[in-house]
Amino acid sequence: MARGGWWRGMLARMSATEGTTKPRAAAAAAAAAAVRPGPIERADLVVVGAGIVGLAHAVHAVERGLSVVVVERDDAAVGASIRNFGHGCVTAQTGPALRCARRARADWLRLAGEAGYWAAESGTVVAARAEDELAVLREFAERAPLPVRLLDAGGVRALVPLDAPELLGGAYLAGDVRVNPREAVPAIAAHLARSGVRFLWRTSALGWADGRLLTSRGTVEAPRIVAAVGHDVDRLLPELAEDVGVRRCALQMLRVDSPGGRRFAPAVLTGLSLLRYSGFAACPSIPALRARFAATAPHLLEADLNLMFTQWPDGLLTIGDTHARAVTHPPFHDEALDSLLLAEIARLLGVPSLAVRERWRGVYATGPEEFLVHRPEPGVAVVAVTTGIGMTTAFGLAHEIVETLT
Ligand SMILES: Cc1cc2nc3c(=O)[nH]c(=O)nc-3n(C[C@H](O)[C@H](O)[C@H](O)COP(=O)(O)OP(=O)(O)OC[C@H]3O[C@@H](n4cnc5c(N)ncnc54)[C@H](O)[C@@H]3O)c2cc1C
Repeated sequence: MARGGWWRGMLARMSATEGTTKPRAAAAAAAAAAVRPGPIERADLVVVGAGIVGLAHAVHAVERGLSVVVVERDDAAVGASIRNFGHGCVTAQTGPALRCARRARADWLRLAGEAGYWAAESGTVVAARAEDELAVLREFAERAPLPVRLLDAGGVRALVPLDAPELLGGAYLAGDVRVNPREAVPAIAAHLARSGVRFLWRTSALGWADGRLLTSRGTVEAPRIVAAVGHDVDRLLPELAEDVGVRRCALQMLRVDSPGGRRFAPAVLTGLSLLRYSGFAACPSIPALRARFAATAPHLLEADLNLMFTQWPDGLLTIGDTHARAVTHPPFHDEALDSLLLAEIARLLGVPSLAVRERWRGVYATGPEEFLVHRPEPGVAVVAVTTGIGMTTAFGLAHEIVETLT
């Protein structure tokens, strides 16, 4: 059976067992929707998922003159796209991710005016607190795709008020951008709605076949379907997720008061961030840096910490983040990880403690490649960003996918 057309098979199985087996709730919903007379909506493109990946597809499709329906299971986007730092980490990407990030950077800035949200060409400061971190930054500055300015400790402090006594220097990545995702994502959805995109909120996509998307409210007819369901790709299409090795990455995050009301225009990354992004990976000093962390602070690597923070216009610092990978995560928040994060950020800021305002967990799809693009049948694309760079890249990725569908 073709993937995505599974519901046809399910309906066949249901009728085969009629009278002997009680149909499951999902099957009953599917059957009820399937027998409704005619589609509930028609469009040139139907997008499943109102996170940034789905919205980015809707933006580019509307700009090409297509009519668009967005189907979203929730009443608003509450997934990874509003749980992140809002950091457009353009400079530290390579390959297709860099190509997508460059495009996305321009889209974030352009749409800020059109949709009405805050966006800053703030850049990023990478704070170095050890010689091996400075070595990586020097190597990176030689090969970076966008401007990188090396800084001494005074230069770092001139850009961001960090009081860590061990601060040695760092680098300024001028091309990075920032948004407040909690503001920007709903603003883009509202902008799309004003542009004629129809949103079916509280509506689950169940599957597709022959230009029809089956939802929990009925079918939507569209010659083009984009499924942008984030980490839920492993529940909607479990065989695909198993085939390509996609699982869920869970991250712990907090918002804290900025000590003394300090202001930080750029995003702030640290030595641990150098172990994370593809742009740093090819620097010759990376193995030595990793070995030093493994020898002196293995607990930071065990927590898979990317020690970083951003500040949104309300002044609070969004700090993070830990990483854990699994198919299904236990629902319990690990206080030890939050304590570790708070202690490490307090040390970076040079303060004894931090006042916590919010704690949350974010989840994104994770896999061996940076993107998952699967085309199960003509006109259908399953699209997910399978590492933590969806805010940085989604608009560029969506631009390329929409081009292939039109
Ligand atoms: C804590 C954290 C920090 C991060 N920081 C950054 C950062 O600073 N910079 C960066 O570039 N990236 C960052 N990322 C990654 C980025 O947030 C994600 O890559 C991106 O948001 C994924 O977008 P998405 O639209 O695919 O997923 P989501 O935002 O999760 O959206 C998917 C949507 O699909 C809907 N859906 C699922 N199944 C169905 C269905 N069957 N029917 C209908 N709707 C469905 C869901 O309800 C959801 O709204 C971070 C991620 C996390 C979790």
